[in-house]
Amino acid sequence: MRKGLCVYPGSFDPVTVGHADLIGRASKLFDSVIVVVLHNPSKRGCFTVEERVNMLMEVCSRWPNVKTDRYDGLLVEYVKKQDAGVVLRGLRAMTDISGEYQMAQVNRHMAPETETLFLMAAVQYAHISSSIVREVGGFGGDISAFVPAAIAQQVYERLRPRGRL
Ligand code: ADP
Repeated sequence: MRKGLCVYPGSFDPVTVGHADLIGRASKLFDSVIVVVLHNPSKRGCFTVEERVNMLMEVCSRWPNVKTDRYDGLLVEYVKKQDAGVVLRGLRAMTDISGEYQMAQVNRHMAPETETLFLMAAVQYAHISSSIVREVGGFGGDISAFVPAAIAQQVYERLRPRGRL
């Protein structure tokens, strides 16, 4: 098992400043971090997986020990393939806990040797989610405080209603 490696999975539809904060903090705690876009069939994506990965690559380029990837199967399979021992997730509010608890327990059942670690969201980003970005951006609103500067224009252009603004 590669001890200093953690896998940070998510939809990243799109990556937000909250995700980026977590990635930056993880990059200091681990020798290497893989941020992986998982295709979740129960969540209809807004951005394509390619778009999400490209945005993540742009955002993560400032951390030399962070890599970006995609996977279309089960998280535990991916973690095993990478020989990682840790899955990283973020917790914003109490409402995140029940879903995260269930997922961590199911993953532990399937891969008992894999640990899920949680980092608390930074208080200034705890209200930020990809769905808020999609909602505000979908109305042509200003999303520049919610997504990293490197991708803000791209996200704005992609989400804003055509023919407006
Ligand atoms: P998923 O669909 O797997 O929940 P998301 O892209 O929504 O994927 O989130 C990926 C992970 O990042 C989750 O653990 C989520 O709790 C965490 N996360 C999302 N937004 C924030 C934020 N603002 N601050 C810290 N962690 C966050």
